[in-house]
Amino acid sequence: MINKLQNQVALVTGASSGIGAGVAVALGAAGAKVVVNYARSSKGADAVVSEIQANGGEAIAVQADVSQEEQVLRLFEQMYAAYGTIDILVNNAGLQKDAAFVEMTLADWNKVIEVNLTGQFLCAREAAKEFLRRGVVPEKSCSAGKIICMSSVHEVIPWAKHANYAASKGGVMLLMQTMAQELAPAKIRVNNIGPGAIKTPINTDAWATPEAEAELLELIPYNRVGLPVDIGKAAVWLASDDSEYVTGTTLFVDGGMTLYPGFATGG
Ligand code: NAD
Repeated sequence: MINKLQNQVALVTGASSGIGAGVAVALGAAGAKVVVNYARSSKGADAVVSEIQANGGEAIAVQADVSQEEQVLRLFEQMYAAYGTIDILVNNAGLQKDAAFVEMTLADWNKVIEVNLTGQFLCAREAAKEFLRRGVVPEKSCSAGKIICMSSVHEVIPWAKHANYAASKGGVMLLMQTMAQELAPAKIRVNNIGPGAIKTPINTDAWATPEAEAELLELIPYNRVGLPVDIGKAAVWLASDDSEYVTGTTLFVDGGMTLYPGFATGG
C-alpha cells in the first residue's frame, strides 16, 4: 500500500480522534498529503499531524465545524492555500445524542442531523466543485476525485433510542448513492464505509468493561471489536485506483454485524 496515494491531497473531517485519526494516519502512510480537520481543540489533531510526519508524510491541522457553511468554505480555502487542490474527501465527523424516542429534544435531533448529514453534504459539495473544475490528472489517479462517507451499520440496522443517529446515517446512504449517480460521468467516485463497532471515544461504554465487551461480541460474528486501523485500511483501498470501478456502494467493515447474528444458530 506504500505510496498508492502519492501527490494526492486528502481531507479527513473530525480527524482528531477515533476512526478519523486512524484514517488520516493510514492515508498519510499511503503517500497522501493530509488535512486533519478538528472541531474545537487542536490537541488531538496536532498529535495526528505529528504521527503522519513521523512516518515521513505531510499533514496540517485545520479547525472547522463541518455543520457551518462559512466554516466549511474557510476550511477548503485553507486547504487550497496549503496544498492547491483536493483529491480525496473522507466525510468522517459525526456525533451521537441518544435518547428514548419520545424524550428526544428537537435540539438534539437537529444537532445530529446538522453534523452527521448536513456536514457531509457541505464538504462533499465543495470537494465535488473542485473535482469538476480540475478533472482527471492521470499521473495521480484514474478518477477525478474520491469521496468516502463514514456511515454506519445503522444506515440499514434500526437502533432504538438513537432515532436521530440512525436517520442521519440512512440519509448519508442515499446522499452517497445520489452523488455517485450524478457525478460518475465526471469520473468522480463516491462510496460509504459502514463501520460496525469500532473502539473509539464515541462508544466507550460499549466496550470499556469485560462484561460490556462480552455483550457487544454477541452482535459480532467475527468475535472481536473493530479498531480504527481496520477502517483506515478500507479507506486507503476506496481512495486508491485499486477500487477504480467501485462507486455508489457501502463497504461494511463490521466483522459481520450486518449478518443478522441472532439467526446464527439456525434455530
Ligand atoms: P469520535 O467521537 O472519536 O470521532 C468523531 C469526531 O468528529 C471527533 O473527533 C469530533 O470532534 C468530530 N466532530 C464532531 N462534531 C464535529 C463538527 N461539527 N465538525 C467537525 N468535527 C466534528 O468517534 P468515531 O467513532 O471515531 O466516529 C467517527 C465516525 O464514525 C462518525 O461519523 C461515527 O458516526 C462513525 N461510526 C463510528 C462507529 C464506532 O463504532 N466507533 C461505528 C459506526 C460509525
